[in-house]
Amino acid sequence: MRELEVDALLLSHGADLPWLTGYRAMPLERLTMLVLRADGDPVMVVPALEAPRVAEADDLFAMEPWTDSQDPIELVLSVLGGPRGASSHPLRLAISDRAWAASVLSLQHQLPGASWLEASVVTSPIRAVKDATELEALHEAAAAADRVAAMLQGGEIGLLGRTESEVSDHIGSLLIEGGHQQVNFAIVGSGPNAASPHHEPGRRVIGRNETVVCDFGGTYSLDDDVGYCSDITRTVVTGPPSGEIDECYQVLLTAQQAAVDSARAGVTAEHVDHVARQIIEDAGFGALFMHRTGHGIGIEAHEDPYLVVGNSEPLQPGHAFSVEPGIYQPDRFGMRLEDIVVIGEDGSPEPLNAADHRMAIVDA
Ligand code: ZN
Ligand code: ZN
Ligand code: ZN
Repeated sequence: MRELEVDALLLSHGADLPWLTGYRAMPLERLTMLVLRADGDPVMVVPALEAPRVAEADDLFAMEPWTDSQDPIELVLSVLGGPRGASSHPLRLAISDRAWAASVLSLQHQLPGASWLEASVVTSPIRAVKDATELEALHEAAAAADRVAAMLQGGEIGLLGRTESEVSDHIGSLLIEGGHQQVNFAIVGSGPNAASPHHEPGRRVIGRNETVVCDFGGTYSLDDDVGYCSDITRTVVTGPPSGEIDECYQVLLTAQQAAVDSARAGVTAEHVDHVARQIIEDAGFGALFMHRTGHGIGIEAHEDPYLVVGNSEPLQPGHAFSVEPGIYQPDRFGMRLEDIVVIGEDGSPEPLNAADHRMAIVDA
C-alpha cells in the first residue's frame, strides 16, 4: 500500500476479505467492509445481525457493527476520517473488485476528491504467491478431484443413457463425499455440446462414440479455514474414438504437456499460453482453441496469474494455475485437458493432478 500510495483498502465482497481475515461476507445488500488503513488500525464495518458470524479476531481488527437504522457509509467515512475538504490531501482508496456498485457510488459521492483503484492491484500479487499452508490445501483439493477423475475414467460414473445433468450431479456428490465442502462447478458436455467450453449440463442423453468433456472443481478446506479450490478437466470417449478424435487428442495432449513443462520461474505467463497454442496451430486446429490456456487458482477458482496473451508477468515460485488447452469442433465434438500446476521452490513446474492424461474409453 505504501509503494502504491494507497491510504486505505476497503474490502467488501470477494476473496480478499476471507483471504486476510477468514471471514466471508454474505453476498447480500447490507454493507460489510473492512477498512484497512496504511497508517491506522483496521476496522470491520459489519451488519449487526451478521457480527456473530465473524470469528474472534480482536487481535486483527476492531468491530463496528451497524444496525438497520444506521448508514454504514457514514461509518466507513468516519473511520477514514470523515468527508474531506479540497484543502486536505486527497484520499487514494483501493476497493474490492467485487464490491457492489451501489457501495462504490455512495462512497464516491461522499468523497468527490478521492482517487480509486481496484483492491486487486494491492492484493493480487501477494495472493498469487501461495504459502506452505495454502499449497497443502491446494494439494489436498487436487488429490480429492483426482479421485473423482479416476472414477470417471474407470467407468464408475455411468455415462451411457444418462443425461449430462445427471452425470454432473453425480460428479458433484462424489466431490462432496471425497472431502470438498462445496461444489463450484461440474461441467459435462457431450457430443456436440462438448464443443462449448463452458457448456451448462442439460437434458441431453449421452450416447455412444461421443467425447464427453468433464470439468469440475470445488472448495476444499483443511481445518474449517476458508478453503482452496480444485479444478480438473478430463475428456472421455464413450466407445472407440474415430481417427479424427484420436488425432485431435494426441495434439491436445502434446500441447498440454509441453505447456506444463514450459511453466518455469522467470518465464512469462503468456509464454505458457504461446507454447500450447503453437502446437495446436501447427497441427491446423488453431482456430478451434478460442480461450486462454489457464488461470491462477487459490481461494478463488479463477485469480491471478492468467496464462493469456498480453500477460508478460514472470512466473515465480508459489504461483498456482491451471494449464487447460482445448480443441472444439463446432457442432461436432470437443475436448479439453486441465491440470493445476504449482511453480516449485526450485522454479520447476509441479503438477498437482496426477489422473491419467490419456483419453479413457468409458463403455458404461
Ligand atoms: Zn473454464
Ligand atoms: Zn476447469
Ligand atoms: Zn480451469
